[in-house]
Amino acid sequence: MSKYNHCESVYWVFTQLCNDKCDHCYNLSGPQGARISEAECLQIIDNLPDRIDRLILSGGEPLADKKLLFAILDGIQARYAKSTQVMLQTNGDLLSGEILDVLIEKGVSRFDIASIDRFHKHAGSRLMELAELFESRGVNGDDKDPLIEKDSYLVKSHPLSWGYWGATDDMWLGGNWARGRALEKNIWLRDPNHNFCKILSGGIGFLSGAENIPQEISIQLWRINPCCPGTYKAMGDARVEKVADVLARVAQSPVFQKINAGDPLGMGESIGISREFAEGRNAELQNVCLWCDEFFRDYFDMETMQSRFEAENGVDFKVKLP
Ligand code: SF4
Ligand code: SF4
Repeated sequence: MSKYNHCESVYWVFTQLCNDKCDHCYNLSGPQGARISEAECLQIIDNLPDRIDRLILSGGEPLADKKLLFAILDGIQARYAKSTQVMLQTNGDLLSGEILDVLIEKGVSRFDIASIDRFHKHAGSRLMELAELFESRGVNGDDKDPLIEKDSYLVKSHPLSWGYWGATDDMWLGGNWARGRALEKNIWLRDPNHNFCKILSGGIGFLSGAENIPQEISIQLWRINPCCPGTYKAMGDARVEKVADVLARVAQSPVFQKINAGDPLGMGESIGISREFAEGRNAELQNVCLWCDEFFRDYFDMETMQSRFEAENGVDFKVKLP
């Protein structure tokens, strides 16, 4: 089995449909959010690595697209049986006892209520109700946070557990991402010194894992990304490509090796873009993910995995740089 046919963690936003429409949402989810079909989702399940330690299903609000969620859970159970821990990230607004029973029966063992913050409409108002609901089904609320603690997701048994958290100004995500509605609403974190790439949900370790950070990729609907914010263009399309093949392909590129090291300011060095130049652009753009967008838009062609200048003119890009 190829190395990349095993992923420690896959974070899949399978829908951008949501009952809420939060200002800080990084992927423009909402009642009109983008969706993909059940057939596409089943295709994606087919293209996932043969082994996944944990799969986080998210959105959007997964329960706003309940029929699709149930079909995905059936597909995951058929392919991985109990070898993969299936986790659900939900805002909790639509969760009922009846739905919880079905989710448990279909293999979800971890529930994360990711909405306890001032940006969400209900901002934790259902928390006590949800706590009672989980308790009534034997879902334990005292566990460590398995999203963060590497030790937690490596456990081989998957006892039922739940937890809650939300966005805060200095949240573990490191501030609102310069993405989606947060970008539109102008509430993204302006701080060139904050490296989103080097913390959980960033690109760090997407190929190899890092200290206390699992090897995790994200799939945004069908877009295969090294991180949750997502690169300007996807590394691949999980509907038509094997995720393991895409990872094996990008792993050869020094650009992606730098992302894997959580060092987006160094990712242009192999094609002649100095760290100094990247630092200057990052300082102007005020956010390292915006520098990353510029890099993949103007300097590096994701399809050919070459510098744009080389790809377009067949000439070494290095000679043309300032
Ligand atoms: S932040 Fe979560 S609850 Fe809010 S719109 Fe986005 S997906 Fe929905
Ligand atoms: S810098 Fe690029 S690769 Fe790193 S987290 Fe931001 S968008 Fe992802």
